[in-house]
Amino acid sequence: MKLNRRTFLATAMASRMAVPFSRLLAADSVPPRKIQYIDIHTHLGAFYHGRELTAELLVRFMDQHQVERACVLPLVSPESAPIPQPVSTALKAYHDFPDRIIPFCVVDPRAVTAPGQRTGHVAGVKGLIEILKRYQDAGCKGLGEHKTGLHFDAPQQMYLYEACDTVGFPILFHLDDIRNPDTPGLPRLENVLKTFPELPLIGHAAGFWASISGDATFEDFGRYPNVPTPVAPGGALDRLMEKYPNLYGDLSEPGGEKAIARDLKFGREFIIRHADQLLFGTDVLMPEQQIPQFTLLDSLKLPEEVQYKIYRGNAIKLLRLDGM
Ligand SMILES: [Zn+2]
Repeated sequence: MKLNRRTFLATAMASRMAVPFSRLLAADSVPPRKIQYIDIHTHLGAFYHGRELTAELLVRFMDQHQVERACVLPLVSPESAPIPQPVSTALKAYHDFPDRIIPFCVVDPRAVTAPGQRTGHVAGVKGLIEILKRYQDAGCKGLGEHKTGLHFDAPQQMYLYEACDTVGFPILFHLDDIRNPDTPGLPRLENVLKTFPELPLIGHAAGFWASISGDATFEDFGRYPNVPTPVAPGGALDRLMEKYPNLYGDLSEPGGEKAIARDLKFGREFIIRHADQLLFGTDVLMPEQQIPQFTLLDSLKLPEEVQYKIYRGNAIKLLRLDGM
C-alpha cells in the first residue's frame, strides 16, 4: 500500500475518529493484491442522516480494500438523493487527494432551455458544453451519476448526451422504473446508443441490471432479484453490448451484485463475454457499508486478463488516466 504524506495524515486522522485500532492492524496485514482496483462509483456526503462519508473516510476505505483510485460521483437531481451532493465536494476531494480521487460532474438537463423557447440560464447544447468544459478544466473525467426523473431519451436528456459527446465525457447513468426510466428491452437506451455511437454510456442500477435476463418485467426494474434466480436467455444487455461497443456496465450496488450472484454460471460467462465493457464499482456512500462485490468477484476465479480489464484496465482506457 502506497501512502503519501497527505494520505497518511488524513487516513490517520479519519481512523482515529472512526475506525478501531485493531481493525487498522488487521487491514494492514492483508497481503497486497496483484491487481489493485479502480472504483468507478462512490459518493461523498450524508446520503443517510448521521452517516456521512467524508473524503478522509473514503480514502481509508480504499486503503482497507486496495482500491487505488475511486471516482466520486455527485448527485444533484431531486430524484437522485435526499440531500444534493454537489460537484464542488468531488472537486474538493480531488484537490485534497489528487492521486486517489477522480472527480465526476453532473448537470440536471432540465436546466436547459430548448431551441425556440425564451432562454433561461442554460441555452441549449452550447450552454451545456460551456458548463461541462469548466468542470473538465477543473479535473472532472466524466458525467455521473446521471439520475433524473426524465425518460432516458427525453429531448432535454438528448441535449446533455450531445454535450457530453462533444466534450468527451463518458456518462455513468442510473436506470430503474422511476430514474431515467426505460422499458424491458431498453429501447430508449438503444436510441441513445445509436444516436451517439462514440459516447461511452456506463449503465447501473436495478432496471439496467434486470435486463441481463430475457424475462425482465417493468416491475423488475424497480427491485432486486432473489439469489438464486436463473437468468433467462435473450437478455437486452447481451444484445446491446454485442451490438454497441459504447455500452458499458458498472458492477456496483445490489443491481450489479445480484445480476451476477443470481446465476453464477451465467454471470461468470457474461463477465468473460463482455470483459471489455464491464467496470468494478462499489457505490459506497456511508461508513461501514458492506460491499459484497469484493468476495463475489474473487469467488468467480476469473482469468487474470479479465480481472485486469474489469478491475482497472477498462477504467484507465475509458477515463484516459494517463500514466497508469
Ligand atoms: Zn450511486
